This record gives sequence, structure tokens and C-alpha cells, in this order.
Amino acid sequence: MSILVLGGAGYIGSHMVDRLVETGRDVVVVDNLVTGHLAAVNSAAKFYQGDLRDADFLNQVFDQESIEAVVHFAAFSIVPESMAKPLKYFDNNTGGMITLLEAMQAHDVKKIVFSSTAATYGTPKQIPIKETDPQEPINPYGASKLMMEHIMHWADVAYGIKFVALRYFNVAGAKPDGSIGEDHGPETHLVPIILQVAQGKRDELKIFGDDYNTPDGTNVRDYVHVLDLADAHILALKYLAAGHDSNAFNLGSSTGFSNQQMLTAAREVTGKPIPATLAPRRPGDPDSLVAASDKAREVLGWQPHYDDVNEIIKTAWTWTQKHPNGYDDRH
Ligand code: UDP
Repeated sequence: MSILVLGGAGYIGSHMVDRLVETGRDVVVVDNLVTGHLAAVNSAAKFYQGDLRDADFLNQVFDQESIEAVVHFAAFSIVPESMAKPLKYFDNNTGGMITLLEAMQAHDVKKIVFSSTAATYGTPKQIPIKETDPQEPINPYGASKLMMEHIMHWADVAYGIKFVALRYFNVAGAKPDGSIGEDHGPETHLVPIILQVAQGKRDELKIFGDDYNTPDGTNVRDYVHVLDLADAHILALKYLAAGHDSNAFNLGSSTGFSNQQMLTAAREVTGKPIPATLAPRRPGDPDSLVAASDKAREVLGWQPHYDDVNEIIKTAWTWTQKHPNGYDDRH
């Protein structure tokens, strides 16, 4: 029996595939390669190129493979893009979930681990954010993912498809040997952008706003290492395999770092000056997002290994130095 990883050529998906292969699992990857990279996929995994909204294609994969459980990373995830193009997000993310659950139901596959997000909480009423806190997204990305959580809930009620929704906070870092890492085109995320400035590929970091309700005025986010995240998915698969009920977990480090603090840490790690200037606020950004992640630790037994943001940035810097042009496969 195989684990089907949707979006397994993306940043987080490719680290997950790599970890699953390392732990001896048979892995099937589906990715449309719109934002993913074939070179990121561990060669021991079986790869299908296609779009999960294509029901015929997806059903063929389920027909050909013996799938035990699905891990679903295949979604668009850029907050500002979602503000400009909301329908793209509801179509791909929310619509894709419906096609997927229909194919799972038709093939009697009853377990799914899902990439949800801190963006489902919107502007938090309290920090750190607990799983039981209100989910009131303030951008279409978060709204599309919250709808996906709701759709999975009702598919569980009707068909008994059990899910674990993992609500990620800010994911960063790379496999420490620098063989796989983060490569988006165009890049929008803070850590890779800072490192592009350190590389000399960008002139400066633009810090989006310094008048937020935070200690230094810049947004505060909670950074978790991509391999710790992958481990949480493996634990979630075990949780479902043990017959537990559907559930949702925050995945963060429980410590917040401001954009300014991240810049300072990156200057330390790289030894580069990394020039920065102030720019206007970016739409859709809440002041602070910090997770309470004790539930994942207690229920799943999750123990993140990276608790130091400098260490997280260091792994991303190793990847950047080994792959100065990312996967170098832009077409
Ligand atoms: N950010 C920034 N400059 C950049 C990119 C990001 O100041 O060039 C800020 C962004 O406004 C947010 C934080 O960095 O406060 C993290 O943004 P990112 O896009 O990495 O992740 P998100 O929080 O949107 O998931």
C-alpha cells in the first residue's frame, strides 16, 4: 500500500516525500508542476503529472495504485495573490478538494492528512492561538482552506473519510544537506527573499509595514522547520492508521519572531549586511500569528527538533548557496 502525496513536487510536499521514502514507505506523487519542480521529487517515489481538478486523471491514479492514505499539499498559498485573484484560490484549492474527496470515496480510501493554515484564524483574539479559537479568515487564501476543512468534516460525517487538518504557521528552512529547498517563482516569502538579498540577487528587503500592534511594529510570525512539519504529517498518518477520529492541530514553534528580528537573525547567519527599507503594509496581514502547539505535542507526540530560528535560516542558507538559481528549471 502506498501513500499518495498531492503536491509532492512543491516546497513542503517534496520534503514530505523525501521523509516518507527515508522511512521506507512506498510513495506516489501527483503534481501539476505549475509551481512545483520535478527535480525536487525523490526518485524513489512514483510520479504522475496532472491536475487534481481533472477527475478522470485522478481516478486513473487511484485505479492504478493501491492507496492507503492521502497527504494533500496541492494548493495555491500566496496571501497577496489570493487578495487579487480570489476565484483562482476557490477554484484550485476548494474545488480541488471536492474532486479529491469524490475520488477517495469512489476508491474506498478513508484517510487524509491536509495542509491547513494559520490564515484560517484571521486576526486572532488571543496569542498564542488555540485550535478551538474562532476561525474568521481575513484573506481568500485562508477562506479557501477553511472551506476545505468544512468540506472534509461533512465528508467524514457522510462517508467516514477521516482527516487530520494541520494548521501551519510559517514554514521555513530546507533539508540540511541542501539537496532540496524552497524555490518559488516569483518568490514572495520572507526568509527566501531575505536570502536572495544576502546572495546579491535583490538589492534590498522591503519590510511591509512598521506600524502594526507588535513590540517593534513589524509583523510577528511563528516559524517552523519544514522537516519538523514533515514529521508531524508522518505522525498524523500514524494517528489515522490507529483508527482515531478526525482532528485539527496547530504546527508552530510557539515562539514569535518579528520581521525585523528575522532580518537581524539572517544577517547573523549569513554575515551579509542585507539592506532593508520600509514599504507600505501588505493587504491581508494580521499583526501577529503565534501557535499554541501543545495539542500536536500531546496527542500526536510531535517533538520539533529545530527550536532556534537561526538554525532554521541556516538550513535555508545552505540550500541557497548550493542552488543559487533554485532548481533552475523555469520554463
Ligand atoms: N514580508 C515582508 N517583506 C517581504 C515578504 C514578506 O515584510 O518581501 C513580511 C510579510 O508582510 C509578513 C511576513 O513577512 O509579515 C511573512 O510573510 P510571508 O509571505 O513569508 O508568509 P505569510 O505570513 O504570508 O504566510
